[in-house]
Amino acid sequence: MKILVINSGSSSIKFQLLDMAHESVLASGLVERIGESQGLIKCTLRPGTDKALVVEKMDYIADHTSGMRLAVEILTDKDQGVIADKSDVGAVGHRVVHGGEDFHQPTVITSEVLAAIEKNIPLAPLHNPANMDGIRVAQELFGGAIQVAVFDTAFHQTIPPHAYHYALPYELYEKERVRRYGFHGTSHKFVAGECAKVKGRPLEELNLITIHLGNGCSMTAVENGRSVDTSLGFTPLEGLVMGTRSGDVDPAIHAFLARNCNMDIEAIDALLNKDSGLKGLCGMNDMRDIHAAITAGNERAKLALAVQTYRNKKYIGAFMAVLGRVDAIIFTAGIGENDEVVRAMSLQGLEPFGISLDREANSRRMKNPTLISKKKSRVQVWVIPTNEELAIARETRTVLSR
Ligand code: ADP
Repeated sequence: MKILVINSGSSSIKFQLLDMAHESVLASGLVERIGESQGLIKCTLRPGTDKALVVEKMDYIADHTSGMRLAVEILTDKDQGVIADKSDVGAVGHRVVHGGEDFHQPTVITSEVLAAIEKNIPLAPLHNPANMDGIRVAQELFGGAIQVAVFDTAFHQTIPPHAYHYALPYELYEKERVRRYGFHGTSHKFVAGECAKVKGRPLEELNLITIHLGNGCSMTAVENGRSVDTSLGFTPLEGLVMGTRSGDVDPAIHAFLARNCNMDIEAIDALLNKDSGLKGLCGMNDMRDIHAAITAGNERAKLALAVQTYRNKKYIGAFMAVLGRVDAIIFTAGIGENDEVVRAMSLQGLEPFGISLDREANSRRMKNPTLISKKKSRVQVWVIPTNEELAIARETRTVLSR
């Protein structure tokens, strides 16, 4: 069975075509700058093989439909393509950011499901409409394929009320559904599952802290294989320090900025989402640039790293208290998988809690799940690469077999 995975944003579509017989990637691509004067599509066919081919086209791409049509042309090209016909695609798995309280698991997309995704637009005003565009395009172009929605929020629907409620007037939850939802669920679930595999134990027996550190960052407490708390909240802004997002701040800062800095609500929202985090502290949001700047003596870059890793440590402590027994801590995503310094600083001083990092193992480059704690460490520490496309494809396959 071939599954196409689509992650549709407001002006871009990421896609990956997988052959599920071997979970191999047949093609992987990105359509960018949809609706702008010059769009771009880049697609790698047969990546990682000796027949790999990169196809790039620049053209005006009016909308998501034209973008996806271009992708289909490349995928089905009779000389270089990877499928003979669109009908070779048996299912399309869609990343959908917000499923609200309606979806606890991946779901075949029907008109009722689309209506529910639409109903949740106020909770994710930028993401859900773009995800819906992707679904409509795929329904049009891959009419014969089953369409499945895989929600970023679904894994966290097991979080209990005492952890998902904010201490706000209860009516805000009843009327506006203000509560913690959590995000990056597909990634947290995937690495938790991979951890169970490498440990050779059922996921249902494991207590884990999964730490996703990419541009967006979040941490999840997993008890007996289920999410019981997570750092991202009502929106993907709460919790850890991210590339451009603040994470936790005193909520009174909003009122202070409005009263004293002449900022309206849109400006405050943009400040916290786009100009804060690592970028706000030192002007850079890519961790590689931050390390280079630290080497060159940049004090603000050093501060940004310290603030981020201190916040990570604080949340690890909180989630250890939530879980009691922790079998493993897992680092994943761009920073989590590649940055030994961030990992070491986030765990510094936690030896009394049974966490001992193996410095040599931590400094290795790793593409596969790797244990980076010492043998004597009561809590294991792992680096486990995430693969959201494969996770979505697997979830899609699971739905089909239900
Ligand atoms: P996204 O959240 O967009 O999926 P990624 O998981 O790809 O993000 O992570 C992107 C971030 O990972 C970059 O901003 C960069 O800071 C970081 N990163 C990538 N490679 C490295 C590396 N070798 N060392 C340190 N940080 C890295």
